[in-house]
Amino acid sequence: MAKDTVILTGDRPTGRLHIGHYVGSLKRRVELQNEGDFKQMFVFIADAQALTDNIDNPEKVRQNVIEVALDYLAVGLDPSKITIFIQSQIPELCELSFYFMDLVTVSRLQRNPTVKTEIGMRGFESSIPVGFFTYPISQAADITAFRATTVPAGEDQRPMIEQATEIVRRFNYIYGDTLVEPQIMLPQNAVCCRLPGTDGKAKMSKSLGNCIYLSDDAKTVKQSVMSMYTDPTHIHVDDPGHLEGNTVFTYLDAFCRPEHFGLYWPDYANLDEVKEHYQRGGLGDMKVKKFLNNILQEELEPIRQRRAEFAQDIPAVYAMLRRGCEQAREVAAQTLSDVRRAMKINYFDDADLIKEQAARFAQK
Ligand code: ATP
Ligand code: MG
Repeated sequence: MAKDTVILTGDRPTGRLHIGHYVGSLKRRVELQNEGDFKQMFVFIADAQALTDNIDNPEKVRQNVIEVALDYLAVGLDPSKITIFIQSQIPELCELSFYFMDLVTVSRLQRNPTVKTEIGMRGFESSIPVGFFTYPISQAADITAFRATTVPAGEDQRPMIEQATEIVRRFNYIYGDTLVEPQIMLPQNAVCCRLPGTDGKAKMSKSLGNCIYLSDDAKTVKQSVMSMYTDPTHIHVDDPGHLEGNTVFTYLDAFCRPEHFGLYWPDYANLDEVKEHYQRGGLGDMKVKKFLNNILQEELEPIRQRRAEFAQDIPAVYAMLRRGCEQAREVAAQTLSDVRRAMKINYFDDADLIKEQAARFAQK
């Protein structure tokens, strides 16, 4: 990281945040925040984007804004070090999206693999809301309005960052160097790029109901772990087990650390030994699940506790968000002013334009 780094990420308030968000993005954000090696860091709640596929359920979005804010505070995001804001409170983002719409073709949007998958997931094939279809453009506005250089996110966001980069290049090519190109920062651990759901589906996702939420109580987490998808061919303990697509092992790859063996499973020295035994046969799913449960409980307990503390003063959380929105708006307004100048639509601030036109008409 360098001192001119600007970090930005957002989450849709379509539900509480889950352990996929945690390993895919949140954990990294907290580390970056605490290292402090950046110029600015923004984290935002993408309520306007959430409305693009929830327009008939605005209450869901409204309720989840505060849930996501609490999740942020619970994992350790700290509004005294970074800016936390709500997307819809920054009208400059709409204006920027409006100009960006002219830089992207319909067929380019249709090719976006994340949008394609999400359209399928939501059953939108024949009735895609225009706002949803174009959300990669508004996401490019979110990123560029804050001059973000670095976006810590999961794999599903890669096509969005590519789209944003193309928009920046096209804009800068036409209007001169104005906007900053962003880069995605994926998790170092490959399994964390796209954590599968507890049902074994490709991605843990609020919209798929296959999540372990950061705010789930201990009993709920345990139930989710115990009913988690494993290897359907591993019926008897002695059967050889498979690791491929086995969610319990994927989660162990994401969360297990060497010290967990001494604490919770001294029979094994490391994860490779467990995997080897499982594959050979003779190791039951229940034992592995109990181990995973212990690890997850250890990771989630402090988050749960902090969340409960912050939840005791909800007006203070809204006040924090309000301050964040004010700070964010100032930055976005500055970028917008640069954009208008570059596009030469700053008519009333452009003394040369007025003189030029006066001269042109004087000659007639
Ligand atoms: P929705 O279903 O409403 O889209 P979501 O669960 O996909 O919700 P988002 O708010 O879209 O969550 O994503 C927020 C951030 O978390 C993004 O950076 C995204 O890449 C990351 N993320 C989401 N799900 C996962 C996952 N299963 N594994 C790793 N990262 C994830
Ligand atoms: Mg998503």
